Amino acid sequence: MSSSTASESSPKTSNFLRQIIESDLEKGTYANRRWAGSPGDATHQAAGVADPARIRTRFPPEPNGYLHVGHAKSICINFGLARDYGGVCHLRFDDTNPEKEDTEYVNSIIDAVKWLGFNWSQPGNDQAYQASNYFDFMYRAAEYLVEAGHAYVDEQTAEQMRVNRGDFGKPGVNSPFRERTPAENLVKFRDMRDGKYEDGSMVLRAKIDMASPNINMRDPAIYRIRRATHHNTGDAWCIYPMYTYAHPIEDALEQITHSICTLEFEDQRPFYEWLMDRLCEGGLLSSPPPHQYEFARLNLTYVITSKRKLAQLVYDHRVSGWDDPRMPTIVGLRRRGYTPESLQLFAERIGVTKSDSWIDYGTLEACLREDLEAKAHRGMAVLNPVKLVLTNWDEVMGAGHLEPCSQPALPHPPEGMAPVPARHFTIGKKVWIDREDFEEVPPKGYKRLFPRNKVRLKGGYVIECTGCTKDADGEITEVLATVVPDTKSGTPGSETIKVKAAITWVGVADGVNAEVRMYDRLFLDPQPDAGGKDFIESLNPNSLKVITAIVEPSLAQARPDDKLQFERHGYFVADRLDHTTDKPVFNFAVGLKDSWAK
Ligand code: ATP
Ligand code: MG
Repeated sequence: MSSSTASESSPKTSNFLRQIIESDLEKGTYANRRWAGSPGDATHQAAGVADPARIRTRFPPEPNGYLHVGHAKSICINFGLARDYGGVCHLRFDDTNPEKEDTEYVNSIIDAVKWLGFNWSQPGNDQAYQASNYFDFMYRAAEYLVEAGHAYVDEQTAEQMRVNRGDFGKPGVNSPFRERTPAENLVKFRDMRDGKYEDGSMVLRAKIDMASPNINMRDPAIYRIRRATHHNTGDAWCIYPMYTYAHPIEDALEQITHSICTLEFEDQRPFYEWLMDRLCEGGLLSSPPPHQYEFARLNLTYVITSKRKLAQLVYDHRVSGWDDPRMPTIVGLRRRGYTPESLQLFAERIGVTKSDSWIDYGTLEACLREDLEAKAHRGMAVLNPVKLVLTNWDEVMGAGHLEPCSQPALPHPPEGMAPVPARHFTIGKKVWIDREDFEEVPPKGYKRLFPRNKVRLKGGYVIECTGCTKDADGEITEVLATVVPDTKSGTPGSETIKVKAAITWVGVADGVNAEVRMYDRLFLDPQPDAGGKDFIESLNPNSLKVITAIVEPSLAQARPDDKLQFERHGYFVADRLDHTTDKPVFNFAVGLKDSWAK
């Protein structure tokens, strides 16, 4: 565990990936790589210069949804390693699967990576890479495999292939088409490409070992026939590469050194290596090829991290959209008040491991709290208002008098900050206080307002409670108190009267009504979708409560996306889309650790 701050200069905790990279750098494993300025095969790269990037990593999302907190971990790992070791991280859209792409998703991914504080541009290239641009090479590499006797066209039905693959305890059975000659296979494969066969009637398979204990090595399919219009290549192709074949090639063409993925791909690594070795020995790819390393994906309690399931929440209107502040998407977290620094800190703190585990949701919240503690401007807000009347005000302060008050907006400003931002508000005869801050009959230990007790109105005066008024139903309508003159915060002698509590308040004269969206976790079950559970069943029916609060003027003046601390209540963010100074809207981000100072 690291105790570092979100700052980039903080020391990074070592992990197995850092050790591998440091060892590769020391040994010079990739020192002789060349880079022609763009992705390409061995000939293309050989014509380039010595690669100025000491390592190359990549973040390869499929543009089929919005990125979530798990992707944030992967982004921080891949871009963070490249940054720390003088390398480059590629943003690559893994768009080899036709039909699924949507420019809305592409743009949202670009925004998310940039917002998290990373960028992929290099001299001469500020474009993200696109896997579908490599279809020509992928096809050429497949023809090479066919010609070298490493791949064959299989005409078994899907069902026959499934049965003949065997299972964990049972070796597979060779396909009757496995011994075709390379020349026959080449003709067949070209006919596949030329659209002479039906979708699904045959596939191209790597010829490896049907008895391998690793089922992924039992002649995996590498090309299938699929008549679908691709968003980038249109109808140029009716055959498409399988993901397990396409992905290593994408890495290799981009001269990736360390290809970092989640643990579920561990069993694919032997095929990754097999394919790289074949294409290097054929001279198609430059050596040494990239290597795959696996780390544990992020599992966060009370959170779902599957684009498909998150999409279901959106399309079923369980949430207001991908950017609903309850969503674990990067756009949702952002709208909830999360900062790039808080997510970087989170990624750093949870570290990189090789075994799956669940991270407590509180760890994420703590990172936000830590980041906002120093940054968020303070202000007072009353979430559950009741009026407090200072019955002697007119007499001691003057009828209708409004006394100006001022407090620092940052209690612990960064060293050298000048001027320290200040807030200004007024106090008069009537102020709003939180309903919970008054008890007619105080429970034991209660230190806030109750008859004959004195408290300080934070940043204002000491007051003494005298009672309350009630309506016909016995509901409290006003709390009554008297102001103690000459106790205004920050004036000489103001501390002579000692009180046990300071309560927050907002002046009736200058308080501003605000919509406050009180969010809670979206699910009640800490593992909402574990073991195939129906996550819809554990949706929290009270995950959103909209209230009207009254805030001090400085809070209403916030700009959209400003993070604020409502003193004693927690951190809030001015909603990016809906907040205006005329009609303020705040989202609850995270509570204070010690939210209720007695
Ligand atoms: P999903 O199931 O949500 O669609 P995915 O893995 O299919 O996730 P991709 O777009 O393929 O989504 O992911 C891009 C990268 O993000 C991959 O390298 C993947 O390993 C990584 N990634 C996805 N989910 C997580 C997670 N929960 N924790 C860490 N990394 C993740
Ligand atoms: Mg995926």
